[in-house]
Amino acid sequence: MIHLHTVYLYDDPDTAGLDIDYLAGSLAAEAPGLQVGVRTDFLTHHFGRFPEEHRASLEHELERQLAGTRASAHLDAEDEGLPWAQVDADEVYVGRLLQAALRLLIPEDEATTDRLHCVFISQLLADIDDPAAPRVGVAALGSPTIISTSGLVEAPRRPREYYFRRNHYAMLGAVEHIDSLAEQFADRTVDYGDPRINELLKGYLLMAVAYRATGDGPCADPLCPLHAANTQQQLLQTQLGDRSRICGYHRGMLDTVYGE
Ligand SMILES: [Zn+2]
Repeated sequence: MIHLHTVYLYDDPDTAGLDIDYLAGSLAAEAPGLQVGVRTDFLTHHFGRFPEEHRASLEHELERQLAGTRASAHLDAEDEGLPWAQVDADEVYVGRLLQAALRLLIPEDEATTDRLHCVFISQLLADIDDPAAPRVGVAALGSPTIISTSGLVEAPRRPREYYFRRNHYAMLGAVEHIDSLAEQFADRTVDYGDPRINELLKGYLLMAVAYRATGDGPCADPLCPLHAANTQQQLLQTQLGDRSRICGYHRGMLDTVYGE
């Protein structure tokens, strides 16, 4: 197991309700001994390390790099079949490419294996490794780990009945009914601006730590917060349900992840 010393959490000012200090506190409580640092958003923090006169050219270079990480640069953005067809194509990044672009900004002394950078973003993360079946995800685990707050809303499936009713109302042109659907399904779905967002994100931070420490992906146990839910109903159960609890394997890992 790789031992961790410090986890840095980067804020996302564009995500309503995201409470980075709360998330840092909850991670520190679950993984004793681990240092958890809170920072402003990733780009502001890392650009801030450079003298003012260099920043304009750095930003220009990064913008160039980021353009190549957008999903629209790799797939036809007009394709109605894309799982993110409902959102602005420029707001969708290919997870592993975005990771590679951001990794370049992490200074050498912080790029060691005992340090983990977790970046929250409001844009969507796409996995296009299989171009025939592109997917959206909540998290790209690795260095840095990127967690998409929109991914919580867009990646896990909503109940079938929700889609059925939405299509029905759309067909009838009953827009006001579509708007009220989120409220009607609140116990089974997650929406933008959801007040439960911080509770739902806690488990993804634990997943990021586990991935760094052991290389393991998400937990198979649907009651463990390190489980990556495929449906929103399951997501709410896994992270917030009465029976939600960290499984024995991951409890042991979190208790020992901090090494001297
Ligand atoms: Zn587990």
